[in-house]
Amino acid sequence: MKAGEIIVILGKELYKSRCFVCLKKVKEKGFTIHHLRYIENDIIHSNYKNRDRYYEDLQVMVRLNPNRFMLLCNTHHQSVERLNRFSLENRKRLMRAVKLSMKQKMMRAVKLSMKQKM
Ligand SMILES: [Zn+2]
Repeated sequence: MKAGEIIVILGKELYKSRCFVCLKKVKEKGFTIHHLRYIENDIIHSNYKNRDRYYEDLQVMVRLNPNRFMLLCNTHHQSVERLNRFSLENRKRLMRAVKLSMKQKMMRAVKLSMKQKM
């Protein structure tokens, strides 16, 4: 079976067919089953050359312990992997930076809407 088909089936069975972050509905392309924790002798992507074979083997592990995994779209999988490379302290400051940036955007939106009313 193709990796994408396995991801869709696992998604339907175990993860309500949606990316954990954006709730986008699972499709054969653009989704991944993400490890939350690793165990000894785990099925690891880097040990495989063939993605279909990787998912054939991984699905057994996913069904044994669905809570050890998460369904993510590729955008949010990349985001999670990238954020995980940062230290906890840097991640906290980054989230602060994000929140502050959103405030700036909102302020601009408020100013614009006030201009339109005048
Ligand atoms: Zn997503």
